[in-house]
Amino acid sequence: MDLGKLEASLKDEPKYRTEQVKEAVFKNLLTSWDEAKYLPVPLKQKLKLKFPLAIKAQLYKSTDGQSQKAVITFKDEQKIETVLMANRTGRNSVCVSSQVGCPMGCEFCQTGKMGLIRNLTAGEIITQLLYFARLLGTNKRIDNVVFMGMGEPLLNWENVVQSIKIINDPKAFNIASRKISLSTCGIIPGIKKLTDFPLQINLAISLHAPTSKLRSQLMPVNKKYPLPELMETVKHYVYKTGRKVMFEYLMLKDINDSPQHARQLAKLLDHPLYFVNLIKYNYTQSQFQASTEKKIKEFMQTLKNYNINTARRYSFGEDIAAACGQLAT
Ligand code: SF4
Repeated sequence: MDLGKLEASLKDEPKYRTEQVKEAVFKNLLTSWDEAKYLPVPLKQKLKLKFPLAIKAQLYKSTDGQSQKAVITFKDEQKIETVLMANRTGRNSVCVSSQVGCPMGCEFCQTGKMGLIRNLTAGEIITQLLYFARLLGTNKRIDNVVFMGMGEPLLNWENVVQSIKIINDPKAFNIASRKISLSTCGIIPGIKKLTDFPLQINLAISLHAPTSKLRSQLMPVNKKYPLPELMETVKHYVYKTGRKVMFEYLMLKDINDSPQHARQLAKLLDHPLYFVNLIKYNYTQSQFQASTEKKIKEFMQTLKNYNINTARRYSFGEDIAAACGQLAT
């Protein structure tokens, strides 16, 4: 659902029609224009043709009931995955994809193995949220949106920005900008654009290594945008915006989980507005293995000893391949 195009298509209608149409899509969560009794038949016909409300998707539920993964098929038969995660307090987060596949080729990531097939349009990003909004029904709402699904969002800037505006729009999803997070593998020009972006969304960096040498082995992006330059750019982002930055660190057995790695990371992230999220690796048929629980705890303790803001991120939906690094169609 591309709101911009939808609004443009209503330019010859009375103004209140736009409001009615938005309400039908985002508030009443209609799945067919026929249900919009208050709209004139010719308009409904036009909307049916240009903006069909049906979403073709297959749903998978995790055994713990906390996450649900949807595989959505678009008009050209390309598929993406998106995940709804419900935490214990009843808050609902949706992890959205921004591309079909991903060009970045991170060694530990299933999506990276697909390569890039194409960017998603803003409407296709919004479709993922609409799908879960409908699933939750009108009594519940999506509380958080994270751009951490398939793809590198900063390589699809125009569509991601357009979708963020719709997510934030009070007449659409009405989700506060601080409840929207974008995760990047370190696309420096994109982070620079985000520094001047008017909406205060959260930035997360997929770091996964404390040194440039190791990062280049795990993440090819580091060859183009090396760690020292990335950290300079993030520092400038924090200086200009005053916002926190989350660094994601996937714990890979015998690769990046030693006490020395923890000390190197502590040195790298010594800033009061930097936070580290330690993530247990999920099996994705690669050469990597998850660090042991003992190693993760020790790593975390070392970071804490250096006063680094550290938390553990628990992966949802491992059994339905919906956890970090597992999304691939
Ligand atoms: S980790 Fe993110 S940036 Fe890297 S290949 Fe996977 S989806 Fe792309």
